[in-house]
Amino acid sequence: SSDDSLLSVEQIDTAYGKSQVLRDVSLEVGNGEVVALLGRNGAGKTTTLRSISGVIKPFDGTIVFDGTDITSLPDHEISRLGVSYVAEERAIFPDLTVAENLEMGRVNRDDGVFTIEEVYDLLPRLEERSEQLASHLSGGEQQMLVIARAVVGQTKLLLLDEPTEGLAPQIVEDVLDIIEHVSDQGIPILLVEQNLNAVLEVSDRNYILNKGEIVYEGTTEALQADEETQQQYLGIG
Ligand code: ATP
Repeated sequence: SSDDSLLSVEQIDTAYGKSQVLRDVSLEVGNGEVVALLGRNGAGKTTTLRSISGVIKPFDGTIVFDGTDITSLPDHEISRLGVSYVAEERAIFPDLTVAENLEMGRVNRDDGVFTIEEVYDLLPRLEERSEQLASHLSGGEQQMLVIARAVVGQTKLLLLDEPTEGLAPQIVEDVLDIIEHVSDQGIPILLVEQNLNAVLEVSDRNYILNKGEIVYEGTTEALQADEETQQQYLGIG
Protein backbone atom coordinates (compact mmCIF):
# COMPACT_ATOMS: atom_id res chain seq x y z
CA SER A 1 0.00 0.00 0.00
CA SER A 2 2.91 2.29 0.68
CA ASP A 3 5.08 2.01 -2.41
CA ASP A 4 5.05 5.73 -3.10
CA SER A 5 4.75 6.80 0.53
CA LEU A 6 7.68 8.40 2.26
CA LEU A 7 6.15 7.69 5.66
CA SER A 8 3.89 4.78 6.42
CA VAL A 9 2.43 4.37 9.90
CA GLU A 10 0.85 0.94 10.11
CA GLN A 11 -1.62 0.12 12.87
CA ILE A 12 0.35 1.51 15.79
CA ASP A 13 -0.73 1.24 19.42
CA THR A 14 0.95 3.61 21.87
CA ALA A 15 0.53 3.90 25.65
CA TYR A 16 1.83 5.98 28.52
CA GLY A 17 2.34 3.32 31.17
CA LYS A 18 -0.92 1.41 31.35
CA SER A 19 -2.96 4.10 29.68
CA GLN A 20 -3.34 3.34 25.98
CA VAL A 21 -3.64 6.49 23.88
CA LEU A 22 -3.34 5.33 20.25
CA ARG A 23 -5.33 2.40 18.85
CA ASP A 24 -4.54 0.96 15.45
CA VAL A 25 -3.44 4.30 14.01
CA SER A 26 -2.46 4.12 10.33
CA LEU A 27 -1.53 7.03 8.11
CA GLU A 28 0.65 7.81 5.15
CA VAL A 29 2.57 10.81 3.92
CA GLY A 30 3.57 10.76 0.27
CA ASN A 31 6.42 12.62 -1.37
CA GLY A 32 5.55 16.28 -1.72
CA GLU A 33 2.39 16.11 0.38
CA VAL A 34 1.21 18.35 3.20
CA VAL A 35 -0.88 16.17 5.48
CA ALA A 36 -2.79 17.47 8.50
CA LEU A 37 -3.69 15.51 11.59
CA LEU A 38 -6.73 17.02 13.26
CA GLY A 39 -8.78 16.25 16.34
CA ARG A 40 -9.93 17.59 19.66
CA ASN A 41 -7.75 18.14 22.71
CA GLY A 42 -6.44 14.85 24.00
CA ALA A 43 -7.26 12.92 20.81
CA GLY A 44 -3.67 11.70 20.54
CA LYS A 45 -2.22 14.01 17.88
CA THR A 46 0.96 14.88 19.75
CA THR A 47 1.39 11.25 20.78
CA THR A 48 1.27 10.26 17.08
CA LEU A 49 4.08 12.72 16.22
CA ARG A 50 6.07 11.54 19.24
CA SER A 51 5.64 7.94 18.10
CA ILE A 52 6.90 8.75 14.59
CA SER A 53 9.88 10.74 15.85
CA GLY A 54 10.82 8.00 18.31
CA VAL A 55 10.37 10.03 21.49
CA ILE A 56 7.93 7.34 22.61
CA LYS A 57 7.71 3.79 21.23
CA PRO A 58 4.50 2.12 20.06
CA PHE A 59 3.98 -1.25 21.75
CA ASP A 60 2.53 -2.66 18.55
CA GLY A 61 2.47 -1.78 14.86
CA THR A 62 5.11 -0.61 12.40
CA ILE A 63 6.47 2.71 11.16
CA VAL A 64 8.36 2.75 7.87
CA PHE A 65 10.22 5.87 6.72
CA ASP A 66 11.93 6.08 3.33
CA GLY A 67 12.04 2.29 3.10
CA THR A 68 13.49 1.79 6.60
CA ASP A 69 11.60 0.26 9.51
CA ILE A 70 12.14 2.93 12.17
CA THR A 71 9.70 1.51 14.73
CA SER A 72 12.37 0.67 17.27
CA LEU A 73 15.16 3.08 16.30
CA PRO A 74 16.28 5.66 18.89
CA ASP A 75 15.03 9.19 18.26
CA HIS A 76 18.46 10.58 17.30
CA GLU A 77 18.79 7.95 14.56
CA ILE A 78 15.33 8.76 13.23
CA SER A 79 16.37 12.41 13.22
CA ARG A 80 19.58 11.56 11.36
CA LEU A 81 17.50 9.84 8.68
CA GLY A 82 15.89 13.22 7.99
CA VAL A 83 12.77 13.31 10.17
CA SER A 84 12.64 16.75 11.80
CA TYR A 85 10.23 17.03 14.69
CA VAL A 86 9.22 20.52 15.78
CA ALA A 87 7.50 19.96 19.11
CA GLU A 88 4.72 22.06 20.61
CA GLU A 89 7.09 23.36 23.22
CA ARG A 90 9.35 25.37 20.96
CA ALA A 91 12.82 23.98 21.35
CA ILE A 92 15.12 26.89 20.69
CA PHE A 93 18.37 27.52 22.51
CA PRO A 94 17.33 30.61 24.48
CA ASP A 95 20.87 31.69 25.41
CA LEU A 96 22.15 31.52 21.83
CA THR A 97 21.56 34.16 19.17
CA VAL A 98 19.24 33.61 16.21
CA ALA A 99 22.29 33.08 13.95
CA GLU A 100 23.81 30.58 16.39
CA ASN A 101 20.50 28.70 16.60
CA LEU A 102 20.47 28.42 12.80
CA GLU A 103 24.11 27.22 12.81
CA MET A 104 23.01 24.44 15.18
CA GLY A 105 20.61 23.28 12.49
CA ARG A 106 23.56 22.70 10.18
CA VAL A 107 25.65 20.65 12.60
CA ASN A 108 26.62 17.36 10.92
CA ARG A 109 24.48 18.20 7.93
CA ASP A 110 25.92 19.20 4.58
CA ASP A 111 22.97 19.87 2.37
CA GLY A 112 20.10 21.61 4.01
CA VAL A 113 16.86 22.33 2.22
CA PHE A 114 17.80 25.99 2.50
CA THR A 115 21.07 27.75 3.23
CA ILE A 116 21.03 30.21 6.10
CA GLU A 117 21.10 33.07 3.53
CA GLU A 118 18.03 31.64 1.81
CA VAL A 119 16.25 31.34 5.16
CA TYR A 120 17.04 35.01 5.83
CA ASP A 121 15.71 35.98 2.39
CA LEU A 122 12.52 34.09 3.19
CA LEU A 123 12.24 35.52 6.70
CA PRO A 124 13.78 38.99 6.80
CA ARG A 125 12.54 39.39 10.34
CA LEU A 126 14.95 36.68 11.46
CA GLU A 127 17.83 38.37 9.65
CA GLU A 128 17.07 41.68 11.37
CA ARG A 129 17.25 39.85 14.69
CA SER A 130 20.12 37.53 13.80
CA GLU A 131 22.39 38.81 16.58
CA GLN A 132 19.70 38.86 19.26
CA LEU A 133 19.29 36.14 21.84
CA ALA A 134 16.54 33.70 20.89
CA SER A 135 14.91 34.23 24.28
CA HIS A 136 14.27 37.85 23.26
CA LEU A 137 12.11 36.89 20.24
CA SER A 138 8.34 37.01 20.32
CA GLY A 139 6.38 33.73 20.28
CA GLY A 140 5.79 33.98 16.53
CA GLU A 141 9.44 34.75 15.81
CA GLN A 142 10.49 31.78 17.95
CA GLN A 143 8.17 29.54 15.92
CA MET A 144 9.76 30.88 12.71
CA LEU A 145 13.18 30.15 14.14
CA VAL A 146 12.43 26.51 15.00
CA ILE A 147 10.98 25.85 11.54
CA ALA A 148 13.90 27.70 9.94
CA ARG A 149 16.37 25.65 11.96
CA ALA A 150 14.68 22.42 10.89
CA VAL A 151 14.96 23.31 7.20
CA VAL A 152 18.60 24.42 7.22
CA GLY A 153 19.22 20.82 8.23
CA GLN A 154 18.85 17.83 5.94
CA THR A 155 15.13 17.42 6.38
CA LYS A 156 13.24 14.82 4.37
CA LEU A 157 10.05 15.05 6.42
CA LEU A 158 8.92 17.86 8.68
CA LEU A 159 6.65 17.05 11.63
CA LEU A 160 5.05 20.20 13.03
CA ASP A 161 3.05 20.25 16.25
CA GLU A 162 0.58 23.16 16.34
CA PRO A 163 2.83 25.67 14.59
CA THR A 164 0.25 28.45 14.80
CA GLU A 165 -0.82 27.96 18.40
CA GLY A 166 -1.00 31.15 20.41
CA LEU A 167 0.13 33.36 17.52
CA ALA A 168 -1.45 36.62 16.39
CA PRO A 169 -3.32 36.36 13.05
CA GLN A 170 -0.62 38.20 11.07
CA ILE A 171 2.06 35.89 12.43
CA VAL A 172 -0.15 32.87 11.67
CA GLU A 173 -0.07 33.98 8.00
CA ASP A 174 3.74 34.25 8.12
CA VAL A 175 4.03 30.75 9.55
CA LEU A 176 1.64 29.40 6.87
CA ASP A 177 3.82 31.10 4.24
CA ILE A 178 6.90 29.31 5.58
CA ILE A 179 5.04 26.00 5.51
CA GLU A 180 4.10 26.61 1.86
CA HIS A 181 7.65 27.62 0.93
CA VAL A 182 9.05 24.50 2.57
CA SER A 183 6.46 22.36 0.81
CA ASP A 184 7.27 24.06 -2.52
CA GLN A 185 10.86 22.83 -2.07
CA GLY A 186 9.43 19.30 -2.15
CA ILE A 187 9.66 18.66 1.59
CA PRO A 188 6.63 16.71 2.81
CA ILE A 189 5.01 17.93 6.01
CA LEU A 190 2.82 16.24 8.60
CA LEU A 191 1.24 18.86 10.77
CA VAL A 192 -0.95 18.78 13.84
CA GLU A 193 -3.33 21.69 14.24
CA GLN A 194 -6.38 22.80 16.16
CA ASN A 195 -6.91 25.74 13.82
CA LEU A 196 -8.91 24.16 10.98
CA ASN A 197 -8.96 27.27 8.81
CA ALA A 198 -5.19 27.55 8.99
CA VAL A 199 -4.78 23.88 8.13
CA LEU A 200 -7.05 24.00 5.12
CA GLU A 201 -4.97 26.82 3.62
CA VAL A 202 -1.94 24.53 3.37
CA SER A 203 -2.95 20.86 3.56
CA ASP A 204 -3.50 18.46 0.66
CA ARG A 205 -4.95 15.64 2.73
CA ASN A 206 -6.28 15.32 6.25
CA TYR A 207 -6.80 12.73 8.94
CA ILE A 208 -8.98 13.12 12.01
CA LEU A 209 -8.11 11.39 15.27
CA ASN A 210 -10.84 10.81 17.83
CA LYS A 211 -10.05 9.15 21.16
CA GLY A 212 -6.87 7.67 19.75
CA GLU A 213 -8.40 6.27 16.56
CA ILE A 214 -8.36 7.54 12.98
CA VAL A 215 -12.01 8.22 12.15
CA TYR A 216 -11.66 10.18 8.90
CA GLU A 217 -9.31 10.55 5.97
CA GLY A 218 -9.94 12.89 3.07
CA THR A 219 -8.66 15.55 0.72
CA THR A 220 -8.89 19.16 1.76
CA GLU A 221 -11.70 19.75 -0.76
CA ALA A 222 -13.64 16.82 0.70
CA LEU A 223 -13.19 17.94 4.30
CA GLN A 224 -14.05 21.53 3.45
CA ALA A 225 -17.36 20.36 2.01
CA ASP A 226 -18.10 17.91 4.84
CA GLU A 227 -19.69 20.03 7.54
CA GLU A 228 -21.07 16.97 9.30
CA THR A 229 -17.59 15.56 9.89
CA GLN A 230 -16.31 18.95 10.99
CA GLN A 231 -19.17 19.24 13.45
CA GLN A 232 -18.91 15.67 14.72
CA TYR A 233 -15.18 15.48 15.36
CA LEU A 234 -13.91 19.02 15.43
CA GLY A 235 -16.88 20.79 16.96
CA ILE A 236 -17.10 23.32 14.16
CA GLY A 237 -19.96 24.48 11.98
P1 ATP B 1 -3.65 18.46 22.67
O1 ATP B 1 -4.14 19.19 21.50
O2 ATP B 1 -4.42 18.75 23.91
O3 ATP B 1 -2.17 18.46 22.85
P2 ATP B 1 -3.43 15.82 21.52
O4 ATP B 1 -4.44 15.34 20.54
O5 ATP B 1 -2.12 16.23 21.00
O6 ATP B 1 -4.08 16.93 22.40
P3 ATP B 1 -1.98 14.05 23.21
O7 ATP B 1 -1.12 15.13 23.76
O8 ATP B 1 -1.38 13.08 22.28
O9 ATP B 1 -3.28 14.64 22.55
O10 ATP B 1 -2.61 13.27 24.45
C1 ATP B 1 -3.46 12.15 24.29
C2 ATP B 1 -3.78 11.55 25.65
O11 ATP B 1 -2.59 11.07 26.25
C3 ATP B 1 -4.38 12.55 26.61
O12 ATP B 1 -5.39 11.89 27.34
C4 ATP B 1 -3.21 12.91 27.52
O13 ATP B 1 -3.67 13.22 28.81
C5 ATP B 1 -2.40 11.65 27.53
N1 ATP B 1 -0.97 11.93 27.73
C6 ATP B 1 -0.22 12.76 26.95
N2 ATP B 1 1.06 12.77 27.39
C7 ATP B 1 1.12 11.94 28.45
C8 ATP B 1 2.15 11.52 29.34
N3 ATP B 1 3.41 11.97 29.20
N4 ATP B 1 1.83 10.66 30.33
C9 ATP B 1 0.57 10.20 30.47
N5 ATP B 1 -0.46 10.56 29.67
C10 ATP B 1 -0.19 11.40 28.68
